[in-house]
Amino acid sequence: MGAGETEMDKSRSATNLVVPTIDASTNVAADIDDVYGVNVWGAGMIKILPNGNIGLCQPEKPDEPPLDLLCVINDLKQRGIDVPVLLRVTNFLESRITQINEAFAEAITEAGYQGLYRGVFPVKVNQQAQVIERIVNFGSQYEFGLEVGSKAELLIALSQDLADGAAVICNGTKDSEFLSLAMLGQRLGVNIFIVIESLRELDLVVDVATKLNVRPQLGVRVKLTNQVSGNWAESSGDRSTFGLTIAQIADLIERLRAQKYLDCLVLQHSHLGSQIPDIIDIRKATQEACRFFSEIRLEGAPLHILDLGGGLGVDYTGEHTAGPNSINYTLGEYCKTIIETVKYSMDEAGINHPVIITESGRSCVAQSSMLLFNVLEATHYDSTEEVSPQASDHPILHQMLAIEKDLGPDRIQECWNSLRYYRDEMRALFRRNQVSLAMTARTERAYLYLINRIKNMLRDPEAVTADLQAALTQVADIYHCNFSLFQSLPDVWAIDQLHPIAPVQRLHEAPQRRAILSDITCDSDGKIDHFVLADGISETLPVHDFGPEDDYYLAVFFIGAYQETLGDLHNLFGDTNVVTISLMADGGFELVQEQDGDTVSEVLSYVEYNPRDMAASFKAITERAVQAGHLTASDRKTIMTAYSDAMNGYTYFEH
Ligand code: PLP
Repeated sequence: MGAGETEMDKSRSATNLVVPTIDASTNVAADIDDVYGVNVWGAGMIKILPNGNIGLCQPEKPDEPPLDLLCVINDLKQRGIDVPVLLRVTNFLESRITQINEAFAEAITEAGYQGLYRGVFPVKVNQQAQVIERIVNFGSQYEFGLEVGSKAELLIALSQDLADGAAVICNGTKDSEFLSLAMLGQRLGVNIFIVIESLRELDLVVDVATKLNVRPQLGVRVKLTNQVSGNWAESSGDRSTFGLTIAQIADLIERLRAQKYLDCLVLQHSHLGSQIPDIIDIRKATQEACRFFSEIRLEGAPLHILDLGGGLGVDYTGEHTAGPNSINYTLGEYCKTIIETVKYSMDEAGINHPVIITESGRSCVAQSSMLLFNVLEATHYDSTEEVSPQASDHPILHQMLAIEKDLGPDRIQECWNSLRYYRDEMRALFRRNQVSLAMTARTERAYLYLINRIKNMLRDPEAVTADLQAALTQVADIYHCNFSLFQSLPDVWAIDQLHPIAPVQRLHEAPQRRAILSDITCDSDGKIDHFVLADGISETLPVHDFGPEDDYYLAVFFIGAYQETLGDLHNLFGDTNVVTISLMADGGFELVQEQDGDTVSEVLSYVEYNPRDMAASFKAITERAVQAGHLTASDRKTIMTAYSDAMNGYTYFEH
């Protein structure tokens, strides 16, 4: 620390900003009641600072001062970049790539495993240009590769400067354009594997390989019978959509043998699943994958790479349990389970240890992005305004106001029941024209006041029955927030995915209110009503009161996986062709309107790529291959034509 520099100065602020006072000798708060569980799910990256703001830290560098997230928001605002903002933190991404690779390296050393680990990132999990570029560049020290599931994603992979040994795994349904590009890419020197997903694909593969005179590196996607638990259970087991069954694998081997392509079958792909909560499932699925591997080898295929797909989960809740939004294992345990299981199975079968690939998407990128937004206004379903009884009040209102005398921690449920009963009675009288608007309004005000009294008595959520908890959710505040759920958090809407959410500031103050969050879309589904808290999952979020002049910011964490483009562009399949017809009297139709679907280059530009820059980069790569003697000049022409045809073509499968 330099002369005159205090610990407080060590908290990195964004440029040109006054640093908020952090007056503790440590840069992370120890004595704040961590209502939101930040220090648990934050996994060393996200912490509460002594000034009550959220701090961002580098897990590998715990001695470095954290960055105050509120400073980032304020600094961006000064630069004209306002909330809502999706904040990506490169260091978090890099740290995760490091952690995954080092955890596998450690497991390999510990177990005495003779093969290598090579990770690939599934492009569909986050296709944004900056993210992919960072993964490829930073990951090159680990020969980290890419997994692609469509033509558009393959074009992304081919225009990257991948490390020499880095693999490109081609999954998904492939047409001849996809296959040609993949095989030409192999000729270019890229370490591409074409994974056969169905028997139908085989003829096309052989056809394209023969035309291009390429011996492709082939893989087979094996459908495991073992079904894993969790939100994505259906992507595993007998009824999963992709992969070959045992009977089909036997057919495939015979057909590859007959067509003299069995020697090309070097990789087995067995996608274990996604966000697998239970380590036992990972062990069982790996064991089954190994059984297939050794049997396929016995049939004469020179398999030497075992790709176990995705599945490594993220502990979104910090609970460390086998629940749908959590996991009951650490990264180290995951790696050791895989390495030890494969080693044991291969040793038993007398097979050399294969190269192990995993396609961890979620675990690689989820924690590296967060959504920051402000609360625009609050709707309160209670009031601090007391209603005093008057002689002219209706007897029901008198009875309602008398509840306050009985209100105590052990009679909350009873008081709540009576309160609702009297309010409903008064509303019924109003509907039957038996009480005036003014009297009903006084009753409604009294109701809001008494609700407020009950809520204050219920600070301790443990003391509340599930019924009362549910009832109180209906009278929780609504905090109207400046974001769109459908645009930014599609999984929250579609599959009730939980992401940790917390205020960015004032975490050293006990939150006075509880709220659900509503977005600014005109859709009643645009709300969040499940939250991760230190003491479990809650239907309301503890929040602070704020005035009309105050800025109150919230952050949704761990949204780097699947959220950025899932809504519209899964695997970068774009808009389809659109045709409008009108039925004719003679049983025919008239074509009223037609509109072409998106081209690959169009969808790529939606996710921050510049197709011209990509083409320039690809030209340079192919030229280097010519100079190195991997390609002839006329091969280069063929590849460039295939590249530009794919770029200008339809994003879907073409016959
Ligand atoms: N590989 C394949 C074939 C997948 O289908 C998926 C996602 O479902 C993944 C990898 C990524 O899985 P995860 O994000 O769980 O790591």
